[in-house]
Amino acid sequence: MTARVLVVDDIAANVKLLEARLMAAYFQVISANSGQEALDICARSPIDIVLLDVMMPGMDGFEVCQRLKADPNTAHIPVVMVTALDQPSDKVSGLEAGADDFLTKPVNDLALTTRVKSLVRLKMVTDELRLRADAGTDMGIDQLLVAGIDDKIGERGRVLVVDDRVSSYERLVKTLSLEHDVTVITDPQEALFSAAEDGYELVVMSTGLENFDVLRLCSQLRSLSRTRMLPLLLVANPGEDAMLIRAIDMGVNDYILRPVDQNELVARVRTQIKRSRYNERLRESVQQTVEMAIRDGLTGLNNRRYFDSHLESAFDKAQSGGKPLSVLIVDIDHFKQVNDVHGHEAGDDVLREFAKRIGKNVRNLDMACRYGGEEFVLLMPETDIELACIVAERMRREIAAHPFIIDGGTKQINITVSVGAACIDGNSDSKKALMKRADDALYSAKRNGRNQVVSDAA
Ligand code: GH3
Ligand code: MG
Ligand code: MG
Repeated sequence: MTARVLVVDDIAANVKLLEARLMAAYFQVISANSGQEALDICARSPIDIVLLDVMMPGMDGFEVCQRLKADPNTAHIPVVMVTALDQPSDKVSGLEAGADDFLTKPVNDLALTTRVKSLVRLKMVTDELRLRADAGTDMGIDQLLVAGIDDKIGERGRVLVVDDRVSSYERLVKTLSLEHDVTVITDPQEALFSAAEDGYELVVMSTGLENFDVLRLCSQLRSLSRTRMLPLLLVANPGEDAMLIRAIDMGVNDYILRPVDQNELVARVRTQIKRSRYNERLRESVQQTVEMAIRDGLTGLNNRRYFDSHLESAFDKAQSGGKPLSVLIVDIDHFKQVNDVHGHEAGDDVLREFAKRIGKNVRNLDMACRYGGEEFVLLMPETDIELACIVAERMRREIAAHPFIIDGGTKQINITVSVGAACIDGNSDSKKALMKRADDALYSAKRNGRNQVVSDAA
């Protein structure tokens, strides 16, 4: 894994020291010797992680961190505070300023590379999601996220502790329960199932489980799709470095060494949960973007864009399989008058109800979509023109027979539709020609007086 690491320290020797170790682990290192310089660099070039000294003249590390986290353009960059050993309160202040992690000077090699690796990996997930979320919208996803995360900050997390030694897990539970709802499971297999089923936001695992290799549990958790993204934190003993390196490479997010410092545990757990909520939000917003791209917002039916791509594959499939494929274009009659007489809201009510009724009329195989304003399309695989006309006629009758309710249930109006039907015609037919024939048939239906079905074959 390579990443661009920004090291910020006012003392050149400190920068050199971290630089050398990070470069040995193949990170790309950029340095700054003041808070202002660090902010400038973050503003103008892509940085994957910031290692930030606390004590600096002028703007101190806390303020730099606060500013990075308050700016939507840089809020997603992980920040690690590098604090002096004799100032334990700095750790807490750093986290209050929004830091993602902290390292204590003199910086331990294992801690440095594992923490940086783990944060960079998380950021890569975040970056990928941000990219996808942004692709479909221009609504400032970062702004939304910064706001959204603040909303959730007071909320308790759901934490699973996997540990089989009573004295050990009782201490963990005591500390974690202050901010989170904690469940303890002593059996690793049971823990795996529970992690997949019960919606935890973090799993804290103890090394040295009796008769069980905790790395096996880690790898199982990473391979199940339901738990692949679930943050994992190991509680390990000093001297277990080799195991921790393997764990981090396997995708474990963080670790803490015994004897467990209560503040550090609280801070690490808080950070993991915060990040995973951030990513969860991004994932939701990506999902929404995808939905928006294929669905019509008013009716919930597929939109025209989706129809066009679906028609392509349905058409090819029908032609290569020698099967019929029919299309209906359904257009509401005099819909403009509905708007003019009853208002646009009433018009929307009619469109929504109309979409529901179409939905009821179609088989699973069929695809209904809103093609344009008050024009809908129904695509029916393995359906010849006779059957298509029967379906269309049934739909036309049903629409005309039952009035539509508008104005919150206070009024009813009669609605009719005209339908044009067409079916795929031999091997030389094209999508465009098929749609054109359905459209021409619809035009005839309108011209002949509306409230009727006309087929291309007629
Ligand atoms: P025809 O019988 O020839 O189809 O007449 P029509 O009035 O239905 O057709 P026309 O194309 O003249 O008007 C369609 C109207 O549909 C005009 C437009 O304002 C309205 N419309 C399009 N989209 C929406 C929508 O999302 N909501 C509402 N309320 N009206 C819409
Ligand atoms: Mg119309
Ligand atoms: Mg129209």
